[in-house]
Amino acid sequence: MNNSTKDIQNTSKTEIRTSAISGKGKFAKQKIMFGEYITTLSGELVHSDPDITSVCDKFGVSGDDPLQIDDEQFLVLDHESKTINHSCNPNAGLRNKSDLYAIREINADEEITYDYSTTSGTNDTWTMNCGCNTEVCRKTIGNVLTIPASIMAKYIALDALPMFIRKQIKKAGRLI
Ligand SMILES: [Zn+2]
Repeated sequence: MNNSTKDIQNTSKTEIRTSAISGKGKFAKQKIMFGEYITTLSGELVHSDPDITSVCDKFGVSGDDPLQIDDEQFLVLDHESKTINHSCNPNAGLRNKSDLYAIREINADEEITYDYSTTSGTNDTWTMNCGCNTEVCRKTIGNVLTIPASIMAKYIALDALPMFIRKQIKKAGRLI
């Protein structure tokens, strides 16, 4: 799929609205099918050591803003990408570096979310308090190794993990 097709899908099916989870969020304007491409998160590419805190210090942003996309690469997300909230029971997941796909059918007016822990590398010390209010809420969100095994199995089956995370959890013995 080329970029122009992606952009058209992105702008036609989603929009930014006020979120019940946190601040603004990205919402479906119409039904998005299971497995459908939603958007590619974008921002300024930064090369850094694996701990996100050095990126935050440099750019004056908080720990849930930069998106790790490789062992030593982060995107300091642009405004639109930053608005997509975390949920412990998400309806979307990241593939490749930062491509967001629906991991179940998403209804019109539903907020689009992904699990931030799926983008936080095994050496990352980042944590965040979660207010997603889902039944499976983990309350404190940490790096990918803090995802419960049953949920991790689901993400693996749904192809909801970026490439660098797949490599890192394989190394850590967590990829089944
Ligand atoms: Zn939660």
